[in-house]
Order: sequence, then structure tokens, then C-alpha cells
Amino acid sequence: MKQLEALAREAQSFSGSGPAMTEQTIQWHGSKPQSAALTDNEAEVARVMQICNACRYCEGFCAVFPAMTRRLEFGKADINYLANLCHNCGACLHACQYAPPHEFAVNVPQAMARVRMQTYTDYAWPAALGSLYKRNGLALSLATAAGLALFLVLAVLTGGGLFHEPMAGNFYAVFPHNTLALLFGAVFGLAMLALAVGVTRFWRDVSPGAASGAAVTEAAHDALRLRYLDGGHGKGCNNADDAFTLWRRRFHHFTFYGFMLCFAATCVATLYHYLLGWQAPYPLLSAPVLLGTAGGIGLLIGPAGLLWLNLKRHPLQGDAAQKPMDRGFIALLFLTSATGLALLAGRDGGAMALLLAIHLGVVMALFLTLPYGKFAHGIYRSAALLKWAIEKRQPNKLQLGSD
Ligand code: SF4
Ligand code: SF4
Repeated sequence: MKQLEALAREAQSFSGSGPAMTEQTIQWHGSKPQSAALTDNEAEVARVMQICNACRYCEGFCAVFPAMTRRLEFGKADINYLANLCHNCGACLHACQYAPPHEFAVNVPQAMARVRMQTYTDYAWPAALGSLYKRNGLALSLATAAGLALFLVLAVLTGGGLFHEPMAGNFYAVFPHNTLALLFGAVFGLAMLALAVGVTRFWRDVSPGAASGAAVTEAAHDALRLRYLDGGHGKGCNNADDAFTLWRRRFHHFTFYGFMLCFAATCVATLYHYLLGWQAPYPLLSAPVLLGTAGGIGLLIGPAGLLWLNLKRHPLQGDAAQKPMDRGFIALLFLTSATGLALLAGRDGGAMALLLAIHLGVVMALFLTLPYGKFAHGIYRSAALLKWAIEKRQPNKLQLGSD
């Protein structure tokens, strides 16, 4: 243990005693300059990685540590890559003998979380909107949803009144189908474009090499299973304390697969409409309604559980400043589902137009905030997992790591 401490102390003294701006020459392959100063947050990741590289106790916890052992120095691109490879499971914080209050103050998940936020901001497209990540909190999300819902409610009010004779779920009698398809399709398409441009810039800068079929399959498998929320031993990650829990992984799965089922419901309904000429409303046992209902239930359970865990999370795990962004996204997902299920339940009643206006307002707020909020973490983390699946198949030039 003494020898380990001496090595870690050497790493600590080599990298300085705390966050500071550090000039490093790094290999940028994309839009960034060849040499760039590390920000305070990046320098902190470099510092803790130097200590972890001397210690290596957490090597089996997740992909971050084996990826770390392939490096002796940590430049900007390495740090961005490792930060997005970290799933913030908390295992290395609770296991660390150098975590606060130790003088080394090693807090890997917190250091990584701060850089992740910076990554989203730096790679955002258009660049001017990158700062929205820092403002995209719970209050803004709820205010956007409320404002858009109110706008649509007023549109319904001026168009014939909020309450009406039952319309048998005919949404398009309230808002024409083509108007909805054009408006929501355009906003969702722009959100996906913004995220695609951002992650492409990130991808260029982390210089991943060529992706083989095996690497793509492994990365997809790890992303879809959220492999690194199992703590490396299958018992789960840490949340409130050093106890392990699989609930974070399960609630993420409810959320992700709930979202995908709702997306599938929309795609099937679009095919029905344009290919088969079948107009909504669809029967309760039709594919779009069954998919949407199953997805909606998943999107109620998942976000509610994630919010509960977020409220209980250990204060040192992750970056407390990002909690408003996390909660804003969680709240919009939950409200999208709750208003969608309420619309389904009330579609044959006299308040269908009101329920529809509220649901569409929430969905539009979700789409508008998608590219500049917590949704980005899934995209960047998947890219980092692919980079790791490629990198681990390449020869390790240092021959120091366990892989
Ligand atoms: S987090 Fe702590 S225990 Fe784990 S490798 Fe780093 S220094 Fe060692
Ligand atoms: S918090 Fe979890 S995922 Fe992140 S580096 Fe530590 S062990 Fe790995």
C-alpha cells in the first residue's frame, strides 16, 4: 500500500496539486487546433487519470480504466473521449482510497461529468447555441412546455372552443395532419441534424480508426444493455451510498425502450397514413396504439424512477450543477408520456381538443430541447463506446494494461 501511495503521490506531484490551465501539444484530427490549452475541468481529469494510472485499483469497473492504461499522458481529445466513456456509475468514487477527504481528492465521476458537459457545449451545432446546455434546466423545460401548450390551447379556443361534442378521437379535425407532420417533422429533423453534426465533430477529434463489424456490434450491445451501469461485477452501480443497485440501469431501460416504442408507434402510424391510406384514429388494439401505450407506460416508470434516484444521489457523485439539466429532460419525458396517455384515455370525450393541445405543446418542448439537453449524453456515450470497441482491438503500444 505504501508503494502504491508513493506512486500515486508521484503522479499527483507530476500533474500538480489541483485544477489549473495546462498547455499540452495534442493530436487533433478535426476542427480543433493542434495545440490547445486544457481547461480547468480537463486538467482535473488529466490529474486524476495520472493518479489512477499509478493506482489501477478500479481497472475492472468499466471501460474507462483499461482505456486509461493505454495512455501515459492525457490530451484534450483523450480527456473528451474518456469523459464520455464514463457512465457516472459512482463505483470508483466509493471504492477509492484517495477520494475526498483524502488530500488527493480523487473524484473521477465528478471530474468526468464536468468535462462531458463541456464536450456537449464545445461540439454543439450551431456553436452559438452550445451555451444552452448550461441553461437547459427544469424551470426552462417546464416553462417552454407550458408556453407552447398555452399557445396551442389558445389556438383551439379561438378556433371553436376548448370543449366540443365527442369527435371519436379525430385529432386532425382540430389540427390538420399535414400541418402537424410538417411542423413536428421539421423540428425533430433539425434536432437530429444538430446532434449528428456535434457528434461527428467529436468523432473526428477522438480519431478512432476504422470500425470493424465486430467493434460496431460490441458497441451497440454495450450501449443497448448499458453494460457499464452494472458496476463491473453485475451488482449494479452506486447511487446514494456504497450499496449497489441495479435500479438505475433498469429505469434507464424503461426510459430508453419506452422512447423507442413511442417512436415506433409514430413510424407505424406514418406508414399507415401515407402507404396504406389508413387515417387516424386507430383502434385500441392496432399496432400504433399498442406500441404507443407500452412505450408510454415505460416512459412513465423510467423517468419517475430516474428522478427518484437523482434526488437521492450522493452529493459527490457527478456534477451537482448539471442536476437541473438532468431533471428538465426527465420531467419533459414524463410529461410527454403522461399527457399522451391522458389524451388516449380522453380521445372520445368532449375535452379531446384541450388534451391534444397540451400534449402537442409538451412534445414540441421536448423536441426543441433535445439537441441542447441531457438527450445528448446517449449519443456521445454511444460514440465513445464505439471508439473503445475499436481501440481495444488495436495493438496496445504501451503494453502496460490488463487488456
Ligand atoms: S479511482 Fe481511486 S482507487 Fe480507483 S484507480 Fe483511481 S485512484 Fe485508484
Ligand atoms: S464512475 Fe463508473 S463508469 Fe465512471 S469511471 Fe468510475 S467506475 Fe467508470
